[in-house]
Amino acid sequence: MMRLLLIGPPGAGKGTQASKLSEVFGIPAISTGDIFRENVKNQTPLGLEAKSFMDSGAYVPDSLTNKLVRDRLKNPDCANGFLLDGYPRTADQVDELDSILKETNGSLEAVIQLTADSDEVVKRLARRAIEQGRSDDTEDVIRNRMAVYEKQTAPLITMYAARGSLIMVDGLGEIDEVTSRIKEALNAKNQS
Ligand code: AMP
Repeated sequence: MMRLLLIGPPGAGKGTQASKLSEVFGIPAISTGDIFRENVKNQTPLGLEAKSFMDSGAYVPDSLTNKLVRDRLKNPDCANGFLLDGYPRTADQVDELDSILKETNGSLEAVIQLTADSDEVVKRLARRAIEQGRSDDTEDVIRNRMAVYEKQTAPLITMYAARGSLIMVDGLGEIDEVTSRIKEALNAKNQS
């Protein structure tokens, strides 16, 4: 059973590592950002509600995000675990995840913090803006997303560290190198 969270600033490489880890552990990578983008693309009611928040770099309200994750984690493909990428991002979302886990008698194996310095992050996001054309990868919105991350999400790291769940991994370097670092850190945690 592997229940993992990936946490880190925009551009730290969470999405890339999430797909790698999903393959390695045979668990679904669940990205709330991807789910929201898919809903925006298909113009679903959820997408229509989420779009304006996403376009400004703000977080989508907890009520919508929590419901989405609660429903998604009920899916049978989560029976052997899951990797949440980009959730929880607020204190309220941590509370929601705690209660979902409690209801299913489950717990998190680890919270993986992917670190990256802000110059590198800005460079990566600028590259992604060109490659993927994401509407929230413009300079103003990137700056806002980083400010929102610092204010609302960075404090969660301290909280998971206090619970003893956190492993910190340097997100700089080749993709496979970072994946290996994560695997090693998880092994080391399991043995401790
Ligand atoms: P991401 O792809 O993870 O960077 O997410 C893109 C955007 O989707 C974010 O800037 C938010 O607007 C929204 N979003 C994704 N995950 C969450 C979350 N856990 N809580 C609130 N908003 C989210």
